[in-house]
Amino acid sequence: MSSKSVLGCIRRHFKGGSTTQRRVPSHHPTVSLGGRNPTEGLLPSLALPIPFLYIHHTFEPDRPCHSFKQFSRSMRAMQRFHQEDRGWADVPLSFVVGSEGYIYEGRGWHHLGNHTRGQNPYGYGVAFIGNYSSFLPSRHALDLVRQHLAKCAVDGGRLQANFTLHGHRQLVDTSCPGDALYSEIRGWEHFGVRDCSVL
Ligand SMILES: [Zn+2]
Repeated sequence: MSSKSVLGCIRRHFKGGSTTQRRVPSHHPTVSLGGRNPTEGLLPSLALPIPFLYIHHTFEPDRPCHSFKQFSRSMRAMQRFHQEDRGWADVPLSFVVGSEGYIYEGRGWHHLGNHTRGQNPYGYGVAFIGNYSSFLPSRHALDLVRQHLAKCAVDGGRLQANFTLHGHRQLVDTSCPGDALYSEIRGWEHFGVRDCSVL
């Protein structure tokens, strides 16, 4: 696929500017969250296409974001926390998804994240905002990741066509992405069973 059509694919579903502008679905006006620039210019690059997609929930904030205002507030708080309290360059996830269907580009397609211990060079970390132990994100948000994000990533040469999808708990001792969300993604295409004995 040419880079032009890749951009077309992404533009259909995400709008926005550079890495620090937030990308929102095309039915919404392009809005900046007022986030800051990453504190360092050069995050290590990923060697594309990578073979894994890791699903997370944020746990905190534990409520799904149903409005753009709420979403941008959560994202700014998350960015501040990671930059000031942890001294990281930016939000450590590749992408963050709100229930209204907003997708926030954190480290994005090209830069190494810090979301799944020991596995960051091999996969994108995508988190749904909220605690999904007992209920699911909106269908719209689920479809955005399952259908559109994954397809754009494959079509754009960012994710291998035969990529494997895992929940965070399959790789690290954590309850993430919550029981409800984890049972949902077990039914998704590309979900990979993983033998925990290799942890
Ligand atoms: Zn996680």
